[in-house]
Amino acid sequence: MLNGWQGSNEMAVIKVLPHSLREKIAAGEVIERPVSVVKELVENSIDAGAGRITVDIQEGGKRLIRVTDDGSGIYAVDMPLAAERHATSKISEEADLYAVSSLGFRGEALASIRAVSRLRIISRRADCDEGTELLAQGDEPMEIRPIGCAPGTSITVTDIFYNLPARLKFLKTNITEQRKIQEIMERYAMAYPEKAFVLTTDGRELLNAVPAASAEDRLIDIYGRQAVDGFVEVTAENDYVSISGLVSRPGFSRSNRSDQTLIINGRLVQSAVFRFALDRAYRELLPTGRYPLALIRLQVDPSKLDVNVHPQKAEVRFVDERDVGILLERAVRRTLLERRLRTLNPFTEARSEISRPGTITTGRKPYAVQAPVNMPLMEEAFTDFFSGKEMPAIKQDRTEAEADMPMKGDGFSGLQVAANTGVNIIGQALQMYVVAYDDLSIILIDQHAAHERILYDRLMQADGGGSEVQVLLLPETIELRPAEVSIVGERSDILKRLGFTVEPFGKNTYRLTGVPMELAEASPAAVFRDIVSDLMEIGGSAREEQIRASLCRRIACHAAVKAGDVLSESEMKQLTVDLLTVPGRAMTCPHGRPVMIKMGQAELLKAFYRS
Ligand code: ADP
Ligand code: MG
Repeated sequence: MLNGWQGSNEMAVIKVLPHSLREKIAAGEVIERPVSVVKELVENSIDAGAGRITVDIQEGGKRLIRVTDDGSGIYAVDMPLAAERHATSKISEEADLYAVSSLGFRGEALASIRAVSRLRIISRRADCDEGTELLAQGDEPMEIRPIGCAPGTSITVTDIFYNLPARLKFLKTNITEQRKIQEIMERYAMAYPEKAFVLTTDGRELLNAVPAASAEDRLIDIYGRQAVDGFVEVTAENDYVSISGLVSRPGFSRSNRSDQTLIINGRLVQSAVFRFALDRAYRELLPTGRYPLALIRLQVDPSKLDVNVHPQKAEVRFVDERDVGILLERAVRRTLLERRLRTLNPFTEARSEISRPGTITTGRKPYAVQAPVNMPLMEEAFTDFFSGKEMPAIKQDRTEAEADMPMKGDGFSGLQVAANTGVNIIGQALQMYVVAYDDLSIILIDQHAAHERILYDRLMQADGGGSEVQVLLLPETIELRPAEVSIVGERSDILKRLGFTVEPFGKNTYRLTGVPMELAEASPAAVFRDIVSDLMEIGGSAREEQIRASLCRRIACHAAVKAGDVLSESEMKQLTVDLLTVPGRAMTCPHGRPVMIKMGQAELLKAFYRS
């Protein structure tokens, strides 16, 4: 068996790599792009107890990064080791590793930076008269000499990856790299409100955060006053962790998670447990694809925390992580539900919706009604109402029973009364809302959300006997990825019951010959593609009920009138009646947004300072 290597003419193929290559490889784990340098240097400044940290960059950090602080400084005697690998002042024995209280502890950052760029350190301890300068570049001999300078440390990194062209190629544009740096600086500013953070590029200020009295004040600095009103405070604790933070009200959300910041013992970290906890806390309060903004601070007993799990220290592990996730979820959920009424405040609620262009669609048939529609545009009437011009003559569309009801207010009773609801419709506003009132309140109905809710409920109920199918005059052929083909095959039963008629049509292709009746006006191929990606996302193990709900949500969303669709009088009426006459109907759309905002007398009086 051993003959193979016992031969006499073998050549060794394994060898130890030269030092400079080892350094480059090791640096690759720590320094991925300019922002990694900024992160490491800023963390060093924080560890040095700095109160003010200034970062200057050029060309997105590719040309130059300089981080200057007023922290402890470095002794001349320590300088020769500062940029050596595994050299640190922060821990000295194994036990320290299990109770790290500084951000750094691996002694790798400066060495890594040195391996892939030109490094210059100038530093002075406050208790020394003179400072020290260090110049280093890869394996070349370092230069160290005394220099006159202010107390604190200034580290300059130029020409990152000048000796690693492969990595240089992977850097994004200056503007993108700069944005990453901006983002991380903002996060540090939020994590350490008491410190001053300044970021400039070529002398232009990108961030200037003066010391703030509280996390909230700092948040105002970063997001602006108006946005911060959209946050609520959360706190929670158990015997080994305390949580404090600010999370956005449901009316204020983003399409990705980039505005979620988690700080564990002063570290900016990523955590899947934390992300899921937030997702769960906002379930039904935010539509899919929308994410809350959050700044969450966890203080954990350091002995419960393992910080040594990620080369860039971007993740940590801690004992009972799951419990902490649940603690966070409950705290956020409770806060949101307590504040729920206030989140329905139209002024905060409407903001994120209105400033959303791109949702305007034209040319589709709006809310479906049986009778042909031939009414003046309510929008016009609405405008006139508020501009104080005389109202156009409007055909009163009242039933006999309704006609018996007393007229409201000073004779203006709304353009029509939606049957049996007690609701008077005034008209459509902003091509998004039905404006109405009843005896007690002013009502705004989100036409899309309301229609979605109605369709969703109808679809979910119809399932037993199957939905009505609209046969397509022109069947659509749809090409899918292999994985998608198999999921369509697996879910063909559900699809059929919902009203999709599909058949295999050659390799990786399906032919769509029918869609649910509700989708008669939508683009069948587009809807089907969405449905397929939903199925992919849901995965193979989901329960049938869950899949059906998700697909019904998707169908409802595609089939519903959109923001921007002009509604006729009878369409508004139909929508309002459909929405309000089903007992127990949930007043959120299937994604969790409110379908209706009611401003009651009390609220109105208060808003007008009449109470
Ligand atoms: P680590 O932070 O893990 O100790 P680094 O390579 O980042 O490793 O830094 C090496 C050492 O250099 C630190 O332990 C610290 O003593 C010193 N140092 C680095 N930056 C600063 C700074 N801004 N102020 C004071 N000391 C610093
Ligand atoms: Mg460090």
